[in-house]
Amino acid sequence: MTFTTRFAPSPTGPLHLGHAYSALLAQDLAVRAGGQFLIRIEDIDQSRARPQWETQIYEDLAWLGLSWPMPVMRQSDRLPKYRQALKHLTEMGLTYPCRCNRADIEAAAGAPQEGVPQFGPDGRIYPGTCRTRTTEVPEQNDVIRLNLKKALCQVGKVEFTEEGEGLAGRYNISSEQLLANVGDIILVRRNMGSSYHLSVVVDDAAQDITHVTRGADLFEATQIHVVLQRLLNLPTPTYHHHPLIRDDAGKRLAKRDNARAIAKYRADGASLHDIRQLVGLS
Ligand code: GLU
Repeated sequence: MTFTTRFAPSPTGPLHLGHAYSALLAQDLAVRAGGQFLIRIEDIDQSRARPQWETQIYEDLAWLGLSWPMPVMRQSDRLPKYRQALKHLTEMGLTYPCRCNRADIEAAAGAPQEGVPQFGPDGRIYPGTCRTRTTEVPEQNDVIRLNLKKALCQVGKVEFTEEGEGLAGRYNISSEQLLANVGDIILVRRNMGSSYHLSVVVDDAAQDITHVTRGADLFEATQIHVVLQRLLNLPTPTYHHHPLIRDDAGKRLAKRDNARAIAKYRADGASLHDIRQLVGLS
């Protein structure tokens, strides 16, 4: 299969130096392997996505010297695909509607216990209050969760290959680890028709992605993605989680750090060479 990787930004603010690193690295890896570099616009959160940010993403990426095949995949066009994947999981009896809000979850979780993680890659680990609602029709404000314990009975080994700097290796995650560190993740968020985890897995497969290139902040989410790939009979790509670009105080960059926005560097007359040097890719 042709090496295929992608850059998958959310159009919720300006791209910054960290995004430049991710996109340039992905393209470098594709060029080195004689493969393809694709773009995907991750805009399922329509309350935060804005068309002007999407336009600016294309401008910034073109300024970075990147090119990509058209048309670009956009998640907001793919809700029927996510619905289909959810239907499959529901027919397997692995989903349930959940009406708990943050306060309910905190109250049900009780006092923290030593050695028991409270948070996982999908936020606070869900204590399971609504888990018996499997056969109920979801109400308007419900989210849909995956019953992880049941799901794990249906999947084989949860393993993947990682090639990122400082993380490289073959990972094999046990059911015990998954249950303790991840829990019942959200498959469909309120007013969104999907969730990041469900969409990313469906879309990486649809784009025939062989190598996922993204920031190390998503490394822990990969185990969730592998579980979903097994349940949906989708291939598991190789992963490349790169170190995050940090500001001078060592904090990772956020969309609101306008000082590091690519557009700002561009306006200040920086060259592509300057950007590559700044992110350590020269
Ligand atoms: N849309 C995510 C972001 O902007 C990236 C997700 C991914 O690469 O899997 O952080």
